[in-house]
Amino acid sequence: MEKNQIWAIIVAAGRGVRFGKPYNKVFHPLDGESILTRCLSALTKANAYDGIVLVISQQDEEAYRELTSREGPYPLVRKIVFGGDTRQESVMNGLAALPGETKLVAIHDAARPFVSTALIRTLNEAAAREGAAIPATPMTDTVKVMHSEGYAVQTPDRSTLCAVQTPQVFDLEKLMYAHRRAAEDHFPATDDASIYERYIGRVKVVMTPDCQENIKVTVQKDIRSAAFVMPRIGQGYDAHRLVEERDLILCGVKIPYEKGLLGHSDADVALHALMDALLGAAALGDIGRHFPDTDPQYKGISSLKLLEHVVKLLSSRGLAAVSVDVTIIAQRPKLKNYMDEMKQNVCTALSLPEDRVNIKATTTEGMGFEGEGLGISSQAVALLMPVDTEA
Ligand code: MG
Repeated sequence: MEKNQIWAIIVAAGRGVRFGKPYNKVFHPLDGESILTRCLSALTKANAYDGIVLVISQQDEEAYRELTSREGPYPLVRKIVFGGDTRQESVMNGLAALPGETKLVAIHDAARPFVSTALIRTLNEAAAREGAAIPATPMTDTVKVMHSEGYAVQTPDRSTLCAVQTPQVFDLEKLMYAHRRAAEDHFPATDDASIYERYIGRVKVVMTPDCQENIKVTVQKDIRSAAFVMPRIGQGYDAHRLVEERDLILCGVKIPYEKGLLGHSDADVALHALMDALLGAAALGDIGRHFPDTDPQYKGISSLKLLEHVVKLLSSRGLAAVSVDVTIIAQRPKLKNYMDEMKQNVCTALSLPEDRVNIKATTTEGMGFEGEGLGISSQAVALLMPVDTEA
């Protein structure tokens, strides 16, 4: 098709009440990037649209501007319009903003950021051929018709049912006509295909394996079940010299010993290795970059404070540790009696239960700098997952 023939309308004007956040869920970070940005990227990557009309709520205008400066620009978004009171009105506002030469329009919910290029193209081709095409998945659960009092009264044949998604792609002229009729009739619809079915005719249902991935982020747990959301692993290592007239602090616990670790902060070698593992998993560098030892504000600072800061940093990227393991390598002193307290400190700092945190210690049987008592080293690994956080 020629230029300006296929456009997409992204509907992002809902409030996402079920998502349980005070702000619009499409601004929620999903493994470091908002749902809306991921959605726009998916549509841009497909290279299948001449432009996008983005429909946002007027009260999100400022949030959208901030998002664009942080994660944008979005060159394919050629027009931004405000939504109406209902999804239907929002779509109509989007339709009104399309250029006159548009032939096909894809209407897509911003809350489906996992739509694949192959699915987008299949839908466009089917709609060009048939006038309308929608993605769907087969029903795996048996579906019941329920009475308002909460009794099942009928069981439709599952093979005749499907669960539909977006993008829903239509011949623009026909869809405009159908929408105008639906508005005149006050026909309420939860998707555009139902309007098309009512006033124009049948809609091609596309069921490809990619539809299984094309989930809608409605509640927070959807984020975790998203196929691309992968765990992130990080590793950390640190070593400090043992000297006289310093406290020995490990995982925030002061341990009685004739020597302590030398360093700019409290030289808590175990937490330093842990923080490097956490930052490493988030691809955020290391503690040297975030807390330079030339900065006087970190002189003598408790590494638990630094760890708090790292946790906040991860949280701002939509990430949190789900499991960590720290090994302290020291010939002396014996650390056994302090392990519980060390572990508690880490559990508290990371808001993790005890079965997700492990602290252990080993000697080197007298070998190397740890074995000779010149210093203590530590190694850590951390596993991060995307989580629900404040944006
Ligand atoms: Mg260090």
